[in-house]
Amino acid sequence: MAATGNRTTEGVSPETIKLWGGALCLDFANSVDWSPAGEPLASATDALSSPRALARWGRRLGVARGRRLPAVDDAELAAALALRLVVHRIFSALAEGGRPAPGDVEALARDHAAATEAGRLAAAGDGAWRLQWPAADPRGIRFAVAVDAVALLADAARLARVHRCPGPDCGWLFLDTSGRRRWCSMATCGSRVKMRRLYQRRRAGVRRSPVAALPGHDRLAVGDAQQGAVAAVVDLHPHEVALDADRRR
Ligand SMILES: [Zn+2]
Repeated sequence: MAATGNRTTEGVSPETIKLWGGALCLDFANSVDWSPAGEPLASATDALSSPRALARWGRRLGVARGRRLPAVDDAELAAALALRLVVHRIFSALAEGGRPAPGDVEALARDHAAATEAGRLAAAGDGAWRLQWPAADPRGIRFAVAVDAVALLADAARLARVHRCPGPDCGWLFLDTSGRRRWCSMATCGSRVKMRRLYQRRRAGVRRSPVAALPGHDRLAVGDAQQGAVAAVVDLHPHEVALDADRRR
């Protein structure tokens, strides 16, 4: 696991990126890690790094339904990434008690209008009726995300549960269905922040202690902190199990 965000050292892929958002549009926003200022981070954290990757993500999320992957091109990828930025900004603003920028809301509304114009209402197979687009239409993934985002905005109860992970360089969005979830995942951001705080507390304690001036003791304290960090992670696991169960609901 790398030091920041939700990537692994091998990078992410549409097939391996975690789906912790609880809504299609939030998982779409979570297809990359975000800086505190709301900029997408390095491409190693980006599951949508090519037109084909976008098509594969759509296949995994069930919004590219054809036997063949839709022929997403560079222009469609650019449009999808623009929507991703807009979706992330809108729901980040709302999660933090603010109002989204009018330009972002208008951009989402434009994608939504194009989606409804191109879509066809059809039985979805689970008893519901939803807008659908031809399986070969490369815009279908972006359209499904835009429609899902507008549906989330229209649902005050779910909207009130949208949170943004406070983990450093994470910025992932998720629905807090338990009312207790603070992190995208205790296994990544939650434990990492807890480990860092523990380490800093131990180091602060060492600096205040006269014994820290002795050669070698600083390193002993670091080793001690690492052992403490392992204990902290073990302590966190029951909580994480509860969160996992929550996520599967
Ligand atoms: Zn996080």
